[in-house]
Amino acid sequence: MEEEHVVDKVACRRHPTTRGPRLERPPFRSELGERIQREVCARCWRDWLKHQTLLINHFGLHPRDRDAREFLYGQIRAVLFGDGEVAEIDTSRQGTIGPPRP
Ligand SMILES: [Zn+2]
Repeated sequence: MEEEHVVDKVACRRHPTTRGPRLERPPFRSELGERIQREVCARCWRDWLKHQTLLINHFGLHPRDRDAREFLYGQIRAVLFGDGEVAEIDTSRQGTIGPPRP
């Protein structure tokens, strides 16, 4: 079982039966960032980042904008942790609509 010590692995929420590579550090400094490092593997985090790019383009988000960041954090919770409503992406309307309001 030497292999387990070479690569740090995490029991990823998205595929609980197979462990995935652990992120080297939380993707951002917050409780949510630490939870991601604890519960999501590096591969699923990369998948999320691709999805996030789609969301940013689709909703015409400015990631420096506070509302946009809150929306994206909400989507991380919804998509990765099943906590909240996942926003639909309608690619025909790319960049023409703002983030959904609560
Ligand atoms: Zn994973």
